[in-house]
Amino acid sequence: MGKLNNDTSNNTNNHDVSASLDWEEEFENDGLTIDELFDRTMGLTYNDFNIFPGYIDFPVHQVDLSTKLTRLINLKTPLISSPMDTVTESEMAIAMALHGGIGIIHANFATVEEQAAEVSKVKRYKQGFITNPQCIKPTDTVRDLMLIKAKYGFTGTPVTDTGVVGGKLLGLVTSRDVDFIQENRYAITTINDVMVPRERLIIGNESMTLQEAYTILENKKRGKLPIVDGNDCLISLIARTDLKKSRDFPLSSYDLKGQLMVGAAINTRENAKEAVKKLAEAGVDVLVIDSSQGASNYQIALLKWIKEKYPTYPQIVAGNVVTMRQAKFLIDAGADAIRVGMGSGSICITQEVMAVGRAQGTAVYQVARYARSRGVPIVADGGIRDVGYITKALSLGASTVMMGGLLAGTNEAPGEYFWGPSGVRLKKYRGMGSIDAMEAHVSSQERYLVESDAIKVAQGVTATMRDRGSIHKFVPYLYRGVQHGFQDIGVRSITELQEGVYGGKVKFERRSPNAQAEGGVHSLHSYDRQLY
Ligand code: GDP
Ligand code: 5GP
Repeated sequence: MGKLNNDTSNNTNNHDVSASLDWEEEFENDGLTIDELFDRTMGLTYNDFNIFPGYIDFPVHQVDLSTKLTRLINLKTPLISSPMDTVTESEMAIAMALHGGIGIIHANFATVEEQAAEVSKVKRYKQGFITNPQCIKPTDTVRDLMLIKAKYGFTGTPVTDTGVVGGKLLGLVTSRDVDFIQENRYAITTINDVMVPRERLIIGNESMTLQEAYTILENKKRGKLPIVDGNDCLISLIARTDLKKSRDFPLSSYDLKGQLMVGAAINTRENAKEAVKKLAEAGVDVLVIDSSQGASNYQIALLKWIKEKYPTYPQIVAGNVVTMRQAKFLIDAGADAIRVGMGSGSICITQEVMAVGRAQGTAVYQVARYARSRGVPIVADGGIRDVGYITKALSLGASTVMMGGLLAGTNEAPGEYFWGPSGVRLKKYRGMGSIDAMEAHVSSQERYLVESDAIKVAQGVTATMRDRGSIHKFVPYLYRGVQHGFQDIGVRSITELQEGVYGGKVKFERRSPNAQAEGGVHSLHSYDRQLY
């Protein structure tokens, strides 16, 4: 109850108590501040509260979702795909980066070289200048070219004397040159026999700008422009297809060289140092130390070692944590961002099996509160069931949101679709701590600190996800959904939202079980849930 206003001279009805209230103060007390929402008695999940609407005086497209992934890396979209072997390999990472987010390549490969190759695929994907194009030697065969095509999907391959970039440019071979060669002749036809030789190529030089290069490609109707130095050695390649791509994806996450950004997960054991080296060589922008309980001597030792060897890039996301003190250990050891979540993932059974963890809303709020004071961004990891949950995570102080389940089942997630019993198209989604994933490769065992020959204790399950279509439709839907949420709250950016929340202006309310039921779809005979 607010206090009575002493000055009642303007009140028409002195018997009406409400008329003499200080309404400004009543408005102030309508709803809970974030501090009041998270009292100490009970952990809250995203589903346990609502954010109050504010005042709208701007169009939805004005909402800007740019944010910080780490101390040094900015993103235009606060969305990250999780390092899980049913979620993020290069295809997902490319799609996420094109839409302004980032993908973290999982570490469940047989060798670190395979993981680094996935990083390279992202780095090579969409750039102005492809600085390390896949090349071939004139003495190689069409079969070798087909292997490159199968592995990377490229058809336009420069021919150099050494078979790698930096060698003398001798020609270019594209799918058009080999289309009519019969398969039984692949192994006996050399590249020299089919390539377009150097004399017939249009070639660019070192000083050419990207725009000039694209103009040549458009005017001359060519697909590839090899760039050579003064000695006629190949230094890069420009692809006409990239011209179109940069038009289509205005939010794309680029590094300083104009290549798409990508992250990779590493574990916390001794062999991690080798992985860090290989991934850094491949150009990874950010490493995520993948551990379900991040406050460990292994992680801190590794973090310090990396920071000493690589003080700025790759940036390091450390975790996972759910308490302020855990976060302090990692920030003191040099973490550039903190990943928050323990047991909140959709496929996760940690809280049941290990009896530890924390409700994700509370974990994000408490860790963010502390990490903000140290200038370190946080990643809210797991438990994002729907677009509104992203808005909620950001409101609590997260700078970015990491998702597994929500992105699994898309075209870009690894794995093949199959038909489920009721005719539904499905893809597999599994926890990295599931027996299934742990048996597939050793790094998952390491995340969940399981000795390889000991009794395994699963911390995750194996599941299926409905076909969600392409990331190229789904992520723009999530982005626009969050923009609408922000507009309803009356804030134009993540900074404005968090200032509003932490300054007590943006208010919340807890949801009773009945309120939760009311907030979902209810009282219908049947319904169709098409979202975008
Ligand atoms: P397309 O048939 O015109 O699509 O050409 P490609 O099949 O050669 O693929 C070109 C796409 O792959 C472009 O987006 C390039 O930027 C990208 N790319 C990345 N690395 C390489 C590379 O080493 N060689 C080639 N040819 N393309 C690459
Ligand atoms: P989701 O977005 O599906 O709710 O959660 C994804 C997150 O769950 C991942 O980013 C990771 O932190 C966590 N996770 C992945 N696999 C497992 C697992 O097997 N067990 C546990 N406890 N967490 C997992």
